[in-house]
Amino acid sequence: MIIEDKSELEIKCTTVSVKEGEEIGVRLLHELRQSKNGIGLAANQIGINKRVCVINVKEPIILINPKIVEHSKEQFIFPEGCLSFPDSKVKTQRHQDIVVEADNHKGRLSFSANSKDINDAFECVCVQHEIDHLDGITMFDREFKQEPMVRGKNAPSKIGRNEKVLIACGVDSKTIKYKKALPLLESGWTLVEHSPK
Ligand SMILES: [Zn+2]
Repeated sequence: MIIEDKSELEIKCTTVSVKEGEEIGVRLLHELRQSKNGIGLAANQIGINKRVCVINVKEPIILINPKIVEHSKEQFIFPEGCLSFPDSKVKTQRHQDIVVEADNHKGRLSFSANSKDINDAFECVCVQHEIDHLDGITMFDREFKQEPMVRGKNAPSKIGRNEKVLIACGVDSKTIKYKKALPLLESGWTLVEHSPK
């Protein structure tokens, strides 16, 4: 059973031995496979407050006492979901590249969203999402928030009416001409990027 109580998920997990961690990891992968479209799960999501999480995007990975030891300055925005909050989607800001150490892996593990394969981005986000869980952090704490734009106030005056802009609302985003974006920007959409590639 997957815990959906946010306050329970805000408890920090404690370190674990590799042996116990492996047992928990196997249980987590089993639980993950039973879920509809889960790609990662942390031990505290099934009520075990130990530092173990699993990711299964390209291949199943168990991480025991994982730590992000390096990360890029570059960040990117990604729509995330969580098995503990099945009805929610959150646009988060994550590091583009990370290096992870875990007690059950000899070498360092690198993950990068800077790739043509969308699965690389999913995996990179998922690793950050699951390690966050172990620290009692949920995707809501990583939400990307942008000031809603009001015409004439914080709107950059340089944007031409026929220039393309990327706008977002909830998990939706689209690239349209600025003149077409203006009414949407006044009804809850936010400007993410001016002249996106
Ligand atoms: Zn989650």
